[in-house]
Amino acid sequence: MTGGGDGNGENAIEVRGLRKAFGALEVLRGIDFSVARGEVVCVIGPSGSGKSTLLRCVNLLEEPTAGRITVAGTEVTDPEVDIDRVRRRIGMVFQSFNLFPHLTALENLTIAQRRVLRRDRPTAARIARDQLARVGLGDKEAAYPAQLSGGQQQRVAIARALAMDPELMLFDEPTSALDPELVGDVLAVMRALARDGMTMLVVTHEMGFAREVADRVVFMDGGLVVEEGTPGQVVGAPRHERTRAFLSGVL
Ligand code: ADP
Ligand code: MG
Repeated sequence: MTGGGDGNGENAIEVRGLRKAFGALEVLRGIDFSVARGEVVCVIGPSGSGKSTLLRCVNLLEEPTAGRITVAGTEVTDPEVDIDRVRRRIGMVFQSFNLFPHLTALENLTIAQRRVLRRDRPTAARIARDQLARVGLGDKEAAYPAQLSGGQQQRVAIARALAMDPELMLFDEPTSALDPELVGDVLAVMRALARDGMTMLVVTHEMGFAREVADRVVFMDGGLVVEEGTPGQVVGAPRHERTRAFLSGVL
């Protein structure tokens, strides 16, 4: 099942029987789900339901207590795995942008390309400029993070992830820290990325985005997947009372 390196035709992410406990606190209580290549899956659910922990388990920022996770054909829960190699193939965007404050936008995009991928300076700069243009910030390469709005900083963070040529992107509430008027530009970049065929797993409270962009929506509560389906099914016609209660609070 794990097959060759590139894993063509396999799921981009496969999670089976995933459990995670912090001491006595069971945060993930048996999660099964998968993301196909090119698919956009939005994870929704109340605060504390385990969404961030799930995302962090996918690239082993948290070590699962039990279960199996395969990413792009590599089992990351295999004790022998070279997790740095796997992480290199996964772009991750958090609520906080985590840009280097003392580096320009361009430098924020070139540093990991040079250090991790060993790209030479001109190549890294060319790719950085392409990705900054892609997120609508072609004119901001010399700006420092403090000179950019929160939305622009988040778009730099997305461009930085894209510059590493990821096979899939994980987003953890990428717009939650932004002023409302800045959310739209970030969502537009994500929408374009989805249209370009990127595999995306997105934790979000933006139901409009989920409805419009997601191929599938997963509703989590209490460390379990309560229901999943198309946006029309889960957001439009939820079957479970807990999903309805959650949606009535966020819509
Ligand atoms: P969500 O992203 O859905 O809001 P989280 O995955 O962040 O939920 O958290 C789920 C639960 O796990 C919460 O009760 C949280 O307090 C707990 N938790 C998360 N990370 C840790 C940790 N490192 N140590 C202890 N508890 C944690
Ligand atoms: Mg979270």
